[in-house]
Parts: sequence; structure tokens; C-alpha cells
Amino acid sequence: MALRTRSVEFSEKLLRMYPKLFKQNEYEGIPIMPYIDGWFNLIENLCDDLVKEIGNLPFKTQEEFSVSEIKSKFRKLKFRLYGPITPWMEELVNTAEDRSQSICQFCGEPGKPKEKGRWLIICPVHDKYYPDIEDSLRESAKNK
Ligand SMILES: [Zn+2]
Repeated sequence: MALRTRSVEFSEKLLRMYPKLFKQNEYEGIPIMPYIDGWFNLIENLCDDLVKEIGNLPFKTQEEFSVSEIKSKFRKLKFRLYGPITPWMEELVNTAEDRSQSICQFCGEPGKPKEKGRWLIICPVHDKYYPDIEDSLRESAKNK
């Protein structure tokens, strides 16, 4: 099972869909780690909620947001948001990050932390193909 990642396309999509949230990412793009495609829905829902909250802020602060990275860290989504963040925005980010811990990072099905090897959140199907996944991840790290 060849593993695919659409992190570049997803990054472009986010820029298009949420110009306010990623105002400061306009030129350099949003760095999204490869192989966290299973979390894309979660990330989109988070962006929807964040943008609603940004709409409530004073106009002059609405374009001060940026995301420095979106990745998996310690078996969990890490969404690094900068700007005049409100407590509610912080809560939204924390909630999404916590939710990622039970979603397969490859396909979005229910998943759990992989017990051995790499630090991943993985579903039973992807766990079965883990050796192939290991190869893909190693390749992607090499090409960095
Ligand atoms: Zn999966």
C-alpha cells in the first residue's frame, strides 16, 4: 500500500479558503508536515471556528494572524498559531489537538497511538501496512 500525502495541495487550499487566518503566510505558504492527511478535516473545522472568532475582533487586528507550522508532535496535532489570540481561540486549538490523538493521521478513521516504532496515531488498517509506511516516511525525511 503506497502512502500518499497531499500536504502541499492542502496548504494551498487553506490559503485560499482562510485568507484572514493565514494573512501572514500569503507569500511563503503554510508549512504542513507530510503524512498527516487524516487530520485535514479536523484542521479545516478548526480553521472554520477560528475564522468565526477572528470576525469578532477589532478590524485592525484581524489580519495579524499566521501559522508557523502544522505538524504531528508527540503523537498529536500541533497547530502553531500566532497573533492576537483570544482565550477562546486557544481553547479551539487545544481541543483540536487533543482530538487528533484518536484519529488516524493517514486516513481520518479512528486511530490510536502506535505502541512501538515511530510516534504515530494509526488505525488498524494502516498499522497492518506499517512497514510500507515506514519506508514512505523515511523517504520523505530524506527529501527534506
Ligand atoms: Zn488509517
